[in-house]
Amino acid sequence: MDLLEHQAQELFAKHGVPVSRGRVATTPGEARAAAAEIGGRVVVKAQVKTGGRGKAGGVRPADGPDAAHDVAAAILGMDIKGHTVRKVLVTEASEIAEEYYVSLLLDRSHRSFLALASREGGVEIEQVAAENPDALARLQVDPGAGLGRPEALRLAADAGLPEEVRDQVAEILVRLWDVFRAEDATLVEINPLARLADGSVRALDGKVTVDDNARFRQPGHPRYADAGATDPLEARAAAKNLNYVKLDGSVGVIGNGAGLVMSTLDVVAYAGERFGGVRPANFLDIGGGASAQVMADGLEIILGDPDVRCVLVNVFGGITACDAVADGIVQAIGMLTAPGETIGKPVVVRLDGNNAPQGRKILAEAALPGVISSDTMDGAARLAAELAGKGA
Ligand code: GDP
Ligand code: MN
Repeated sequence: MDLLEHQAQELFAKHGVPVSRGRVATTPGEARAAAAEIGGRVVVKAQVKTGGRGKAGGVRPADGPDAAHDVAAAILGMDIKGHTVRKVLVTEASEIAEEYYVSLLLDRSHRSFLALASREGGVEIEQVAAENPDALARLQVDPGAGLGRPEALRLAADAGLPEEVRDQVAEILVRLWDVFRAEDATLVEINPLARLADGSVRALDGKVTVDDNARFRQPGHPRYADAGATDPLEARAAAKNLNYVKLDGSVGVIGNGAGLVMSTLDVVAYAGERFGGVRPANFLDIGGGASAQVMADGLEIILGDPDVRCVLVNVFGGITACDAVADGIVQAIGMLTAPGETIGKPVVVRLDGNNAPQGRKILAEAALPGVISSDTMDGAARLAAELAGKGA
């Protein structure tokens, strides 16, 4: 998950990385109040998860509260590379003498961490790397030992930073490592890391990506999720620990295991070519344990997608055998419908693997209206595509 600048700034402050005072505003009026509170000249900054805001006109200075109001009015609602600005950060304006760059990141190719520093900040770092590679210094960080002061000082020297700022930058790098490690980040970046006219060094921009796999031990992170930006069904699925992904077709797909689900998507798209280009509407991986509750949660989410015209349940029985899955489907449909009511959209079920015959028998005996069993994956996909095509 990528964080917004003001969220990154909050984590920086928590770990002692120097930042400017700032307040978030969602209306021009709030921006005026924020500027009044901060006092003096401020900078109003669009809060969107993309770089290059400055160039796009999303970072502008304002002399006092009234100017901050007007600048915020211009920035709020702006579109920056496909991101609509809904919040701005109002910060105290700094007098910049020089701009540097520092970052820590997960270096997948070396199965390690990497620290980067450059004396040329404020510009795209990719550009520095391409045009002036000498200005970008790199240092492998031992995951066990972490980034200590001696290494940080060496990196600052390698990057050609002026001698008088190296101590401050090294201290910031060590604290940035704290952010990186303690917050389970895969990227922390400061660009620009600015030397101000008074000689002090501080982070004037921040980019942080936290590892969603560490959510279980980061109770503070879910509040950084941008509820407005995620699909509501994806949010509901995530809350139930289900992997749901929205696509743009009309067949809802439920399967167990990532490999099976992926191949089901291919088979549905292939079968759908004969029915006017029917494609998957979404997919949901119910994983290994397809209990009745999990199946009910999955079906409810898939059926909640208005684009779905037909559902394909493709399960290969393993440790959770097909008879248990079939029981789950029968109970799930019972949970989702009132007595005598049908599910509304056709559900094609293909069961294979452990105890498949028993599973199919359970479905046949239940004789649920709208639930159709199919013995093969190709057959099930064709039927689902055809039914979704007809529903058009
Ligand atoms: P980005 O364009 O999305 O990377 O946004 P930044 O937060 O990095 O801001 C872009 C540029 O605005 C920076 O490189 C700075 O040159 C400038 N800037 C940001 N904050 C200040 C500030 O407080 N004072 C001054 N003078 N310039 C600033
Ligand atoms: Mn920047």
